[in-house]
Amino acid sequence: MKNIILLGAPGAGKGTQSKILREKYDLAYISTGEILREEIKNKTPLGLEAEKIINKGMLVSDEIIVGMIREFITKHNDQDILLDGFPRTVKQAEALDTILKDLNRGQVSVIELDVRKELLMDRLLKRAEIEGRQDDNEETIKGRFQQYEQKTKPLTDYYKQKQGAYFAVEGSDPDINKISQSICAIIDKL
Ligand code: AMP
Repeated sequence: MKNIILLGAPGAGKGTQSKILREKYDLAYISTGEILREEIKNKTPLGLEAEKIINKGMLVSDEIIVGMIREFITKHNDQDILLDGFPRTVKQAEALDTILKDLNRGQVSVIELDVRKELLMDRLLKRAEIEGRQDDNEETIKGRFQQYEQKTKPLTDYYKQKQGAYFAVEGSDPDINKISQSICAIIDKL
């Protein structure tokens, strides 16, 4: 089974590319951010808790997120999966390794979208106008970048050390389809 992870900074295009990939391939898809936004909308206890954290640009606790992922992968264990926004910490990546091993799913394939930093803030502020996401304001975005640098960037090295698991894609091109083509070329060879 394929276990595809899309890695990249906030605004790198993980959500956009996921949408295109899901149209082309038969993938069970999870965006941890989307699930959390749904919980917030429904004012569930988890949503109320997560809202405070997300609006500060911080990360929700590893335990909560890992629980969600375990449940999701277990449910879709007969399908290829696409993970968007997870893992975001080394702890989450280690937990994912355990889950995949427990479920006999084989190794991960990590595709990292590399986008020039000066483009990211612009993209997020533009998205704010279109989607109205609460956490797409300049103050929160700065916090999210900081969390990304501190906690998520180390995943690049974590996965580079795993044999054959890591692929980088240049994601700055304004032509979204060109980026998708590079990603698909990788997936087709998995
Ligand atoms: P996203 O839609 O992936 O940008 O996620 C939006 C927000 O949800 C993030 O800024 C975090 O606060 C939270 N979040 C999403 N995924 C995770 C995760 N894997 N670990 C911790 N927090 C997460």
